[in-house]
Amino acid sequence: MTREAFRELVKNGPVLLDGATGTNLQKAGMPVGVCPEQWILENSEVLIDLQKRYVEAGTDILFAPTFTASRIKLKEYGLEDHLEEMNRKLVALSKEAAKGTNALVAGDLTMTGEQLYPLGDLMFEDLVDVYKEQAKIIAEAGADLFVVETMMSLQECRAAVLAIREVCDLPVMVSLTYNEDGRTLYGTDPVTAVVVMQSLGADAVGMNCSTGPEAMLEPIAKMAEYAAIPLLAKPNAGMPELIDGQTVFNVESEEFAEVGKKLVEEGAAIIGGCCGTTPEHIRALKEAVKGIPVKAPLQTKRRMLTSERKSVEITLDGRFMVIGERINPTGKKKLQAELKEGSLNLVRTMALEQEENGASILDINMGMNGIDEKEMMLRTIYEVTSTVDCPLCIDSSHVDIIEAARLPYPDVHSSIRFHWKKKSLKNCFRLQRSTGQCLSCFHSRMRDCQKILLRNTALSARSWMRR
Ligand SMILES: [Zn+2]
Repeated sequence: MTREAFRELVKNGPVLLDGATGTNLQKAGMPVGVCPEQWILENSEVLIDLQKRYVEAGTDILFAPTFTASRIKLKEYGLEDHLEEMNRKLVALSKEAAKGTNALVAGDLTMTGEQLYPLGDLMFEDLVDVYKEQAKIIAEAGADLFVVETMMSLQECRAAVLAIREVCDLPVMVSLTYNEDGRTLYGTDPVTAVVVMQSLGADAVGMNCSTGPEAMLEPIAKMAEYAAIPLLAKPNAGMPELIDGQTVFNVESEEFAEVGKKLVEEGAAIIGGCCGTTPEHIRALKEAVKGIPVKAPLQTKRRMLTSERKSVEITLDGRFMVIGERINPTGKKKLQAELKEGSLNLVRTMALEQEENGASILDINMGMNGIDEKEMMLRTIYEVTSTVDCPLCIDSSHVDIIEAARLPYPDVHSSIRFHWKKKSLKNCFRLQRSTGQCLSCFHSRMRDCQKILLRNTALSARSWMRR
């Protein structure tokens, strides 16, 4: 399926997703603690039957049961050598369930369970490779599109989307899961997720699991204020309750569908059910949302900068904002001496102080003689992002440093330097396009700045100029 066809499909929506897989397989006898993908392959008729019932109930997009069939997860069961065969067969099961109907099949990726550096040992580039390996097989197996779901980490979402984009041009939906405090486990709020995912080129973004439908109304409405791509909502059938040692979901299909209707009215264009939902929930939902016009995604572009945990909007007539520019060794002997010794204590203190004193964005510049600027830039990014929430501006005269920083950082707002040659500028624009990150242009002459940006009109409206 092309990305244009996906946009068309959603425009004429609401588009119905499927309901729960895991909780229904458990009901059908899947024991706790087994490798779900292996169990599904050994009991394929259970999965095909469930998904056929979803299609009959009105599902437009089935999620292939490739959820945790990544190299890292399969390794926990000693099954990593079967990765290719398993993913191929798993996609084939959903295609079998969809056969003879218009239902589409989405290859499904999720968290690997391993933490990214600096919390864990997994490097961002390696995670991209893990997702790439799985996504390539899924795409070749004939999935129509992708869904990256039940994500708790925005960084892992980024890795998955970048990986999928490297292997194919299929549409990608991204869905994060939020705790009761409205943030993911790693602290991302829904608006930040929308901004980062749509800038990165996701085709839809939204939320699934964790809560019931009611708790999704407010965040969906909030996301709709910022979303230029369709929104997705796939709630559980209520909050899970533990009754007699069993996890129970208490929202019945009619009630679920009633709130589902409100979710569409608030802006969700793609809707389905997560844990505890059944084909009955999807049938009622389909009935309830039928004929409700899908809210068109936002047309006006907004200028946003984000970190993993915060987004800042820049408007011409909005609040005055301060960019903290202290983390720059130029003219700071003490900072220079610390950086030469490889210490980031002063950097950490400066970051905290600037945030406390009201800086909205922190500029990071590591340009000085006697240190490896790239290495120090990366170390500083990790250090500062685990200390403060402010979005960062990566300030460097070297494209390769900006390129290196774009991976570990969710939204590199980088500066173009006036003395850069055409080739450097082109490279920087290429990076900006591939990661949806923001560029600002510092030039002694505004007219030259405009020329550079206008010549690259594919640039997002998020880039702007400063004299
Ligand atoms: Zn769920």
